Amino acid sequence: MHEYSIVQSLVDSVAAAVGTRTDAVVRSVRVSIGEVAGVDCGLLTTAYEVFRAGTLCENAAMTIDRIPARWECPLCGAAIPRGAVLQCPQCHEPAFMAAGDEIILQRVELEVA
Ligand SMILES: [Zn+2]
Repeated sequence: MHEYSIVQSLVDSVAAAVGTRTDAVVRSVRVSIGEVAGVDCGLLTTAYEVFRAGTLCENAAMTIDRIPARWECPLCGAAIPRGAVLQCPQCHEPAFMAAGDEIILQRVELEVA
């Protein structure tokens, strides 16, 4: 399942953020998931619950921020409304996705003994 590989890289990123500290416990992680990133947040939560056992995220709650898709004109920067034709009404340039396809580890909270 795709969500398991995301959790794997999430845990790897947390490990990289924690580095060589051995006196820190990871208490929470916060991730941003774009609405068109192709991630099922329910499955991601389930995958995290299963996968985190025995990792340094074992005691860390995960919070997911859903990022709405946002389209813009590459020339004038105009926002293209959802559901509209994905083209700038002024410049007639095809819109590009400015947000909504990201998977980002935003924050890791550590408790230091
Ligand atoms: Zn434009």
